[in-house]
Amino acid sequence: MKKIQMVDLKSQYDTIASVVNASIQEVLDTNTYINGPQVHQFQKSLEEYLGVKHVIPCANGTDALQIAMMGLGLQPGDEVITADFTFAATVEVIALLQLTPVLVDVDLHNMNISIERIKKAITPKTKAIVPVHLFGRAANMEAIMALAQEHNLFIIEDNAQAIGANYEFADGTKKKAGTIGHVGATSFFPSKNLGCYGDGGAIFTNDDALAHTLRGIVNHGMYERYHHDVVGVNSRLDSIQAAVLNAKLPLLDKYNTARRLAASQYNKAFSGHLNILIPEFDWNGDDHVFHQYTLRIIDADRNGLMQHLLDKGIPCAIYYPIPLHSQKAYTDIRYNEEDFPVTNQLVKEVISLPMHTELDGEQIQFITESVLEFLK
Ligand SMILES: *Cc1c(COP(=O)(O)O)cnc(C)c1O
Repeated sequence: MKKIQMVDLKSQYDTIASVVNASIQEVLDTNTYINGPQVHQFQKSLEEYLGVKHVIPCANGTDALQIAMMGLGLQPGDEVITADFTFAATVEVIALLQLTPVLVDVDLHNMNISIERIKKAITPKTKAIVPVHLFGRAANMEAIMALAQEHNLFIIEDNAQAIGANYEFADGTKKKAGTIGHVGATSFFPSKNLGCYGDGGAIFTNDDALAHTLRGIVNHGMYERYHHDVVGVNSRLDSIQAAVLNAKLPLLDKYNTARRLAASQYNKAFSGHLNILIPEFDWNGDDHVFHQYTLRIIDADRNGLMQHLLDKGIPCAIYYPIPLHSQKAYTDIRYNEEDFPVTNQLVKEVISLPMHTELDGEQIQFITESVLEFLK
């Protein structure tokens, strides 16, 4: 059996090496390392794939979130509501811009931001909500957009984990995650569903004026060479990374299907077990793209299971072990533990198993048997 990895980028590369190498070679041959034709091509291809008017490539997903907030003109003291159960980048940029992060609890069934908790957290100072499409499944965007309209709020989707996922509205229409709010941000970190071979990110919007503002901000606030109209940053997607993404974007749907297939094989093995709650998803839909395959372990020794798997050479991880409201950098006297029952529960229950595009049946069987052997 091939060695099991949490994310097996090498095996994936082996299947696409000739295409990726040729794409990178083109950059080397043309010597356009910054803002080369590869970046423009990627921008166009991604706009088409997502069905969004504007893609603004940038240096990484954290920058994408920050630039989105800058572009919306959020001001120090403005309150921005986001999920307590996510990667720290989401709250980090809010704090960095001297906006006021307001962390709220998530829902047990999909681990995404709770609509009820958002409603309770909205104040006259609230200016934006940042839903995170955690582990590859879109948050309840329909309810979030309704709140945005009612309270005149901006919605910034953190789509770092859900590129390619579709969100289905009650009327049956579908939109790609990240393109529903006023602005979406994503990451092309190597292990993400669409990953390059270094850092990369992008911002999406259907708003022409906002897109124009964002294109200036990523480039030192310049709209005309050496005219700096707004305070900007230097945040670029390299041509070499764009070349990698040009080779991989046509494979994204196939990659997401491979992840969903692995998830369905895991689910089949674990379904009905009293100590395991599996992530529910609709095989015929495309709402969940499994950036992570995350189980909840109920009334059993989650940490013991983790050690058992590691001892057998099976990598696994706890995403995320500490709620953001308990992190030193983000504690706030306004928070009460009773406000976060779900996050506080999830950090004790969750375990993420290997998930990538190259998992094979033999590996999945070994992993599921090892989990079941421990939980009996
Ligand atoms: C990865 C990630 C980011 C940050 O992306 P980088 O490219 O690493 O800066 C932000 N939010 C979430 C939810 C992520 O998973």
